[in-house]
Amino acid sequence: MDALLLTGPRQLIRATAPTPVAASGGQMLRVVVAGIGGSEYLSYLSPGMRTIPGVMGHSIAGLDDEGQRMLVFPLRGCEHCEYCAMGQLQLCDNWTLTGVQFDGGLATHCAVRNTQLVPMPDSLSWSQAVFVEPFANALNSWQRAAAQSTDSIAVIGAGSIGLGVVACAAQAGCEVICVAEPTVERQQAAHQLGATDSCVRLEQQYSVVFDTVGSPESRCWAIDHTRKGGRTVFLGFATPDMVLDMSEVIRHQKQLIGSFVYSREQFEQAITLAQCCPDDWVQYFGFDDLEAQLQRFSMGDFSCIKAAFRPE
Ligand SMILES: [Zn+2]
Repeated sequence: MDALLLTGPRQLIRATAPTPVAASGGQMLRVVVAGIGGSEYLSYLSPGMRTIPGVMGHSIAGLDDEGQRMLVFPLRGCEHCEYCAMGQLQLCDNWTLTGVQFDGGLATHCAVRNTQLVPMPDSLSWSQAVFVEPFANALNSWQRAAAQSTDSIAVIGAGSIGLGVVACAAQAGCEVICVAEPTVERQQAAHQLGATDSCVRLEQQYSVVFDTVGSPESRCWAIDHTRKGGRTVFLGFATPDMVLDMSEVIRHQKQLIGSFVYSREQFEQAITLAQCCPDDWVQYFGFDDLEAQLQRFSMGDFSCIKAAFRPE
């Protein structure tokens, strides 16, 4: 098999090795597409918690050993703790993601457990398949916020998770859905999914604000533009640390909510939501040109609405 191996900061190399034999209860999925998101280009710059050397890509769709089209539910837990029993694997002390702690989809083949496979309906295209994982993140954040149709919604960042939040808000019938996003192509995509307004920087206040970026600026900005008694939801991982003046959060009784990945149920629900996305939003890259696209993202060029890896 061939794989793109992340060996250190800004070091992505193509490696060829014999395709391993899967352990019992698992198989080597033939990768057809793997979505590229913030997690990949940020890890390309700084691998962080990832196993190095390792293969990135946790938004994976491919063909199983019977040739059936499958999505990969990448999250695993210990299967024994109270959080795993509740289906909240992301709260397990030993959570893992295929493509983070285990080798992922930037390869011709990916080792998966059979229990990770989710059949793709015929109505879901390969291009739409790369939106399922980010839209599952969006769905979890939407449900964590307990947002209603009467809420005014702001979304900072129209990457694929931000677009998923817009799709959730539109589906819920929200009348105000404002997207803060500097890239025109992504603003237009957000409008196609139901955003009612777009801007580069938020100016008003909203009952629920989602920060999908995760920089110190975007987080402060998300809190500032949450109205009194409102909710701010954090999904972005761009920077771990920040300094925050809590006095306004306390006086204005704002709720700060963290949101990380998704449940299996949310992942399966996201399949329907991903079918809102036209195929031409996805731009494909292979072994030879993916690194150049990661560099474009890291230099702030987000004119590509959604990048995806295709091994062939
Ligand atoms: Zn557990």
